[in-house]
Amino acid sequence: MFQLLDGKQTSIAIKDQIANEVRAFTAKGMRPPHLAAILVGDDGASQTYVANKEKSSHEVGFTSSVYRYSANTSEEELLKAIEFLNNDDDIDGFIVQLPLPKQIDEQKVIDAISPNKDVDGFTPINIGRMVLGEDAFLPATPMGVCSILEHYNIETEGKHCVVLGRSNIVGTPVANLLSRNKKGANCTVTLCHSRTKNLPDITRQADILIVAIGKPEFVTADMVKDGAVLVDVGIHRIPDATKKSGYRIIGDVKHSEVDAKCSWVTPVPGGVGPLTIVSLLQNTMKAYKKRFGIK
Ligand code: NAP
Repeated sequence: MFQLLDGKQTSIAIKDQIANEVRAFTAKGMRPPHLAAILVGDDGASQTYVANKEKSSHEVGFTSSVYRYSANTSEEELLKAIEFLNNDDDIDGFIVQLPLPKQIDEQKVIDAISPNKDVDGFTPINIGRMVLGEDAFLPATPMGVCSILEHYNIETEGKHCVVLGRSNIVGTPVANLLSRNKKGANCTVTLCHSRTKNLPDITRQADILIVAIGKPEFVTADMVKDGAVLVDVGIHRIPDATKKSGYRIIGDVKHSEVDAKCSWVTPVPGGVGPLTIVSLLQNTMKAYKKRFGIK
């Protein structure tokens, strides 16, 4: 029988710690940490993500602000907004919600974010620091994957971890973080992608299987070894007339047949998703402490 790697419970525990810290700072007369978000356009999923980030910020006592821009905003206008947030001393960290409209070069936008406020951990400076093992803002979703494994004391040292997907925001940094010579890491990592041959042969060797492939229910029972730890990063909205919202959320793993083979499983929803937001809060707290020279 598998056990749940419960992202909701883990996020509540971490948020409680953050909220306690915020209370201690404000009791001393300090301002609370401030997380801002830039939202361009009216993509439904992006709006939901940003609303969730706002809600979580308020739960821990952070100040939260959202800067909204229309879908036809120019790259120049957006770069000006970033410059403004980079220089605003009342803002500790901010994110630019992706994806951006076609007329805007995403990498140019990411490059413009001050590494000191890059709480999504997307800038080349923070990624470089992460790879070198230096102090860095770690990318939020990969950091969330590590947090949930750590929260449940999942043994990682010497384990074979197979990461399915090599995107810059999930697969590649997860592979990096879990292979580092640090507590909660030290895995032997195999990074798989669309050119990988005999994929099921490789995924079946995983003690820990991290799936971030962006394909609904791609991973099936024949691809997973008995007793594996399974982390499903995937999020997909699929139409479901039985739901009030008209859709339900599924992952990159066919949980109905895979979970029973595993020792630990992240559910979808309620697995990695809540931890991604918590990582942003942790990074914002880190930025705040750095700003005020707090150890
Ligand atoms: P992505 O940019 O689309 O990357 C997908 C990766 O999977 C690519 O590296 C691709 O290989 C690989 N891939 C695609 N088809 C494959 C196949 N048939 N066999 C082997 N590898 C294959 O996706 P992403 O942004 O990393 O997101 C992955 C999933 O996580 C999505 O479902 C997304 O919605 C979800 N997500 C969740 C959170 C969260 O907070 N929980 C955050 C971010 C993303 P190539 O590189 O060769 O193309």
